[in-house]
Amino acid sequence: MTSPAVENDLRAAIRTIPDYPKPGILFRDITTLLGNARAFRRAVDELVQPWAGSKIDKVAGIEARGFILGGAVAHQVSAGFVPIRKKGKLPHQTVRMAYLLEYGTDEMEMHVDAVQKGDRVILVDDLIATGGTAEGAVKLLRQVGAEVLAACFIIDLPELGGAEKLRKLDVPVRTLVSFEGH
Ligand code: AMP
Repeated sequence: MTSPAVENDLRAAIRTIPDYPKPGILFRDITTLLGNARAFRRAVDELVQPWAGSKIDKVAGIEARGFILGGAVAHQVSAGFVPIRKKGKLPHQTVRMAYLLEYGTDEMEMHVDAVQKGDRVILVDDLIATGGTAEGAVKLLRQVGAEVLAACFIIDLPELGGAEKLRKLDVPVRTLVSFEGH
């Protein structure tokens, strides 16, 4: 857990857009946090704070907001960065994993040589909801032999159960701010 002061600071930097992209959804917009130098730095520092003293080989970020945060985190912990992308975007040989969306499935990919067997990897994205996306990413990383040290997100929507789902897969989860509802 983060301290209440840090959580309040970060919460205040996140903008909520009602009914986007469709009616009933409260979209948690982190562009306001990214645009706030102090909040952005704080979020990046806090995301990996429990693993700051550990050996981290790679930080994997999920397209697209996970790239912004994951790149900054990778720099911070002196690790390499690995993009996990929607299918068909990466130019070299890839491994692919199907994952669950609210309606239906999609597929994500990473380069087959982006991670070496035994690499210690931290997964980063902006938000965990149902956990379908992050679960797919964990499976993809494990498929190529990575050790997933943790999955880190700025925002948790606990009612949707994603963080719990990852913990059941033996992945430690760190989130900085929780919001009620969807
Ligand atoms: P899930 O696979 O259900 O955990 O969804 C996580 C992905 O969907 C993340 O990459 C988020 O960026 C995005 N997402 C889901 N719900 C929201 C929301 N309420 N506000 C902003 N992004 C969301």
